[in-house]
Amino acid sequence: MTTTPRPRIRFAAAFGFGLVHVAALGVLWVGLSWQGVALCLGSYYLRMFAITAGFHRYFAHRTYRMNRFWQFLMAFLGQTAAQKGVLWWAAHHRHHHRFSDQPEDIHSPVQKGFWWSHMGWILADEYEETELEAIRDFTKYPELVWLDRNQFLAPMLYGLGLWLAFSWTGLFWGFFLSTVLLWHGTFAINSVMHVFGRRVFETRDTSRNSFLMALVTMGEGWHNNHHHFQASAAQGFLWWQVDPSLWLIRLGRLAGITKDVRPVPARIAALARERAAWHFTGRTFERAREAFDAAQASWDARAEQLSAAWAARRGTALASASQKLAELEAARQRAAAQLERLKADYAAALSAAAAGTRLRGKRAKALAEIRVEELRAEIERTRQSLVDALERLVEAAGGGERHSSPA
Ligand SMILES: [Zn+2]
Ligand SMILES: [Zn+2]
Repeated sequence: MTTTPRPRIRFAAAFGFGLVHVAALGVLWVGLSWQGVALCLGSYYLRMFAITAGFHRYFAHRTYRMNRFWQFLMAFLGQTAAQKGVLWWAAHHRHHHRFSDQPEDIHSPVQKGFWWSHMGWILADEYEETELEAIRDFTKYPELVWLDRNQFLAPMLYGLGLWLAFSWTGLFWGFFLSTVLLWHGTFAINSVMHVFGRRVFETRDTSRNSFLMALVTMGEGWHNNHHHFQASAAQGFLWWQVDPSLWLIRLGRLAGITKDVRPVPARIAALARERAAWHFTGRTFERAREAFDAAQASWDARAEQLSAAWAARRGTALASASQKLAELEAARQRAAAQLERLKADYAAALSAAAAGTRLRGKRAKALAEIRVEELRAEIERTRQSLVDALERLVEAAGGGERHSSPA
């Protein structure tokens, strides 16, 4: 699976990372309690929210606005998750979107292997520095630059606070175990969400959607949605695509904390809805197919009629040696040949979609249906240019098809 060389891992980073995992085992010494479990989960979701709504959707993608006070608070809370500085995090994430699953992508499971994308890259020497160039829009706030440089401050204060308030249960359940789970929950977006799950949109990367991962990550499991349209604060595009981070961002709007929460464009939501309907019922797909077949029949009739008119005039018209006519004729031939090819592809894709139903389950079927839909769009475009070329040929040859233009 590995195709590009991996940078060296820094020993101190790996040692610290391992040590926190060992410290999480302290829960065995403290013992199981409801308070411990509640502290672990509460601390997990509180900070997961700051990572997804803050580090990801606010700092990396700027999908909504906050004032300087709330912005700082969000950055501070996010840094209690011990995932380095806020600017470091957001700058590297922007890089991921620029080069998703290309050789330059620093955490692509396709390029450098699953475990590297999960946690190897975080420990690498080469990515230690914050790429300030990539995050110029936030380096103008000195308090954020300061926070980013002092990455250990927030987690230490947070851990200390939990220890003072809830003693060893607070420290081991609420901080160490919760932080380890939070790490792997967050990292899974980079690893798992580029390998397992369903692809709804044909993005140029390998991102996927998963309901289960959306529960674990407060909505980030709709990663294929997100790669398809990053400018929205939403990652769940449909009502049932659970996205608690978005719900809380919207709640913040009621409280006057968040502003300009960027929605999903209607056309993208409609596409998501249509593809979900194919997935769950298969009915919309059938209806789309019937509509397409009907439209195809009437277009083909029009093209045939024009072709006949052109064929009757072709011999004499082409003998006039007009350059324009020759070009139009070449365009017509190209479009006609292209249309034949596309129709053959379309028939093959349709039977693949049908075979997918019987043999290979829902995912293969969904992919085949997406291909069918793409081919329909291509066929429509090609058919349009064929009819255009024919109409202009018939007209140029002085045909009886178009008498409408006033003399
Ligand atoms: Zn993103
Ligand atoms: Zn991704």
